[in-house]
Amino acid sequence: MIASPQLADLLKRHFGYDSFRPLQRDIMEQALADRDTLAILPTGAGKSLCYQLPALARDGLTVVVSPLIALMKDQVDQLTASGIPATFLNSTLDPQENRDRLAAIRAGEIKLVYLAPERLMSGDFLSIVRTWKVTALAVDEAHCISEWGHDFRPEYRRLRELREALPGVPVIALTATATPRVREDIVTQLSLQDAAVFVASFNRPNLNYLVEPKQDATARLVQFIKSRGMDSGIVYAQSRKRTEELAATLRNSGIPAICYHAGLEAPERARNQEAFLRDEVRVVCATVAFGMGINKPDVRFVIHADLPKNIEGYYQETGRAGRDGLPADCLLLYSRGDVAKYLRFLDEIPDEEAREHSRKQLDQMADFAESDQCRRIGLLGYFGEIWPQDNCGACDNCLAPRETWDATIEAQKFLSCILRVKQSGHPPVGIRHLCDILTGSRAEKIIAKNHDNLSTYGIGREHNTNKWAEIARQLARKGLIAIDSGNFPTVTITADGLTLLRERRPLSLTRLMATEKSRAPRAGEIECDLALFDRLRALRKQLADAASVPPYVVFSDVALRHMARDYPTTDAAFLRIPGVGERKLTDYGQAFIGLIGAFLENHERRTFASLTGIAPFPPKPPKPATNPTAQVTLELYRAGKSIAEIAKERGLVESTIESHLATAIAQGEPLDPRSFYTESEEQEVRAALEGYTEEALKPVFDHLGGRISYGKIKLFRAFQARQA
Ligand code: ADP
Ligand code: MG
Repeated sequence: MIASPQLADLLKRHFGYDSFRPLQRDIMEQALADRDTLAILPTGAGKSLCYQLPALARDGLTVVVSPLIALMKDQVDQLTASGIPATFLNSTLDPQENRDRLAAIRAGEIKLVYLAPERLMSGDFLSIVRTWKVTALAVDEAHCISEWGHDFRPEYRRLRELREALPGVPVIALTATATPRVREDIVTQLSLQDAAVFVASFNRPNLNYLVEPKQDATARLVQFIKSRGMDSGIVYAQSRKRTEELAATLRNSGIPAICYHAGLEAPERARNQEAFLRDEVRVVCATVAFGMGINKPDVRFVIHADLPKNIEGYYQETGRAGRDGLPADCLLLYSRGDVAKYLRFLDEIPDEEAREHSRKQLDQMADFAESDQCRRIGLLGYFGEIWPQDNCGACDNCLAPRETWDATIEAQKFLSCILRVKQSGHPPVGIRHLCDILTGSRAEKIIAKNHDNLSTYGIGREHNTNKWAEIARQLARKGLIAIDSGNFPTVTITADGLTLLRERRPLSLTRLMATEKSRAPRAGEIECDLALFDRLRALRKQLADAASVPPYVVFSDVALRHMARDYPTTDAAFLRIPGVGERKLTDYGQAFIGLIGAFLENHERRTFASLTGIAPFPPKPPKPATNPTAQVTLELYRAGKSIAEIAKERGLVESTIESHLATAIAQGEPLDPRSFYTESEEQEVRAALEGYTEEALKPVFDHLGGRISYGKIKLFRAFQARQA
């Protein structure tokens, strides 16, 4: 088996990262032990690396099957930019190009080759594959093999033949689709033998979930997007026409936007997607057709301008935000009207079972949107995962718990108004009409129907019609009024409503406030010098255009933010930036270091709070560890040995070495938390330890589902103890 330190070394050298994301290392170790492996990790978890890094660590060629041509090119561009010999074969290549690439593969010059599944079908392609020295097979987006998944591709079924053509070659399958049915299908269809299966938490800590009532939706969209500087985002809408209208509105407001839907001709679709990936437009207004091919890591917001049809879709679509781990916002504009609209649409589905299934899904979606509970609890609960805290700190309901207010009088006014209309002999009217009566509107329909003569006319001038409509929706949710679902939904009072009115019972409602952005630090946030960041971004765009690749192929926003924080002006300092490997130092180091140097000539260097919330150095000079055996461990660690190496050398188990280091840390030894665990692991542990004062670590370890080792938890505690 390949030792972990070697993987860590490859990770830094080629990709410029200092640490693994949760599960990455475990997955790689299994794959390198030539075991069939299935990795189910959410979007943005870093699945690609799980087969790319092992490909570098082993001899021979890794064949990667990936469903979309655009995605393939993107991945190969990124690998090439990191100095890794990779290529792809698909139908877009001309014959000469195809021949050249095949020759390079045969000559052993390539470590990873991406194949489109349709390629497997063509002629004697499998007999060509048999002649290669293939040592691993990776199947990305493996859910495409299942009819139960949302992106079924019949070509993926041919993978069985590819497996047969490569006997004894281990497979690693990767997907972000968690449903058990799809998972089982992957195992069967790919004939995975005794597979190591990894399932990560589906929580996306850096995503902030917001739901707002849909009112003046266009104005709200413009305002929301404008408040986000140069950030890129996606606006999902339900119809093609609406995506076009929204894009036009945004453009008229000075926001570079385009639309994307299945009705566009293929070249225009490709062009629009490319413009978005290359940061030439900020916003794509799209239907759900815009999806899987979007590997853009720096999508900073996803807005649902219309209600998604089910929670799974909502999760998938919001999941496209924040792949890079920096904070991102997911805004859902919710209206009961959308629900009513889809219900009418669902009425047309002839098959009863299908209709009821869709209705149920829609109900769950509406419940999620209307709930005042933590959004994470709702979302993860849908996937059968239990979110352990009451306050996630990153959704509207947790950030700004809704205030309640005494709405006894308002309820009486509204309910009486329904009764007065009824007593006047008029058939039931809709919410708007009732609101117009209450606010004393002079609208024609009110005057024509003599509704300005009702005793409730104008008795609710203290609120505008929108406020009254919101009150009405809450009354409906509480079962005090019923809104039927015709073409013109009308309102009637229920038995409960009558009781409330007759017995003058008190009623409180919650305020739906537009959520203010919280100032608490957000998961994944990296504070930096924004003036420098903007310049780095401009340089990145220039270099990317010259190389004809999307900007994130040059550097991610994470890398730029670290540069705009640490101001690296030497090669050594530049190499310490996450995302800077050897190749990127060679290709881009000079340009970026030059820019940073020039910037510092006429700008003050700013300092920022520690990313980990832990002071980088203790106030006092470190005392030597008192325990002599711990002292030996510490010396070895200072000398650059890894925990595993020290354990081996001293004939002790790793957890003992970790305890030694934890003691040293608690006593002030200036070690870097990042050399032990990643930022996201740290966040998980921090959350799990919140309010936990016991010594025993087992409950915490179990609570984290065994994802994070005892050693890491112990080390984290030591850093905390030092801070206290
Ligand atoms: P997935 O396929 O799971 O959605 P990707 O493989 O596209 O995720 O990775 C998402 C982002 O995370 C990429 O920008 C990638 O470079 C970054 N990434 C992956 N692994 C690490 C790591 N260990 N440290 C830092 N960034 C990482
Ligand atoms: Mg992926």
